[in-house]
Amino acid sequence: MVKKLKLIDSKGLRMDGRKPDELRPIKIEAGVLKRADGSAYLEWGKNKVMAGVYGPRECHPRHMQNPAKAIVRCRYNMVSFSVDDRKRPGPDRRSTEISKVAGEAFSSVVFGEQFPRTSIDVFIEILQADAGTRCAGITAASVALADAGIPMRDLVAACAFGKVQGKMVLDLDKEEDNYGEADVPLAIIPRTEEIVLLQMDGSLTTKELQQGLKTGIDACKQIYQIQKEALKRRYAVILEEEETTEGDA
Ligand code: UDP
Repeated sequence: MVKKLKLIDSKGLRMDGRKPDELRPIKIEAGVLKRADGSAYLEWGKNKVMAGVYGPRECHPRHMQNPAKAIVRCRYNMVSFSVDDRKRPGPDRRSTEISKVAGEAFSSVVFGEQFPRTSIDVFIEILQADAGTRCAGITAASVALADAGIPMRDLVAACAFGKVQGKMVLDLDKEEDNYGEADVPLAIIPRTEEIVLLQMDGSLTTKELQQGLKTGIDACKQIYQIQKEALKRRYAVILEEEETTEGDA
């Protein structure tokens, strides 16, 4: 007989020792790629993500240009070695879907009217995956957009919540995602709490969804602080470099 995996112990803790509403550790570094206009590297639990932003630049193919504003395009990609079984390279239905919803989330914060006929291209590369990669990718790419100096209403912060063995939990890891009852990725504009992405795999009652949303929004606000800290560290380095160059001149 197959033994049932115990995802929540008798004390209400999860397999990795987290409380139900606890995030996995998150680290973000902005400005890591020399050739991108903006970039960020993020580690979130066992997820490892690189995000690069190019633009605003002339939009190709031309028929995609919008004379009124910049278009925001996103490409989410999982590299072959990011998961246990080798991931077949190239786009698939899942990555096309994630690219679309992430691009729409960024479009709702970028002031595209300032750059008509251009494109802002966002690349999200998942180097190591352990569930929650779309949220990790959106969180990293949002820092990369700010690092590129793209004018935005605010950053976008993202985090998933869900249900595991009857309990509502925040930020599901791979086992919880695989064996849980629901996984709900959420992305918000932290300042206004507007929701820019909400998807659901599985099912929840209305009450559970409301409870999850509250915890998810609070978590996004914690993530927002980590994003802002990463950008502050980045600008401290830029200022230091500028001062050194002025000193040398
Ligand atoms: N995953 C995988 N192979 C794939 C796609 C996904 O092993 O081709 C794993 C990966 O760890 C991913 C997790 O399944 O993070 C959950 O995927 P989901 O589609 O729920 O997206 P995510 O939670 O990463 O946003």
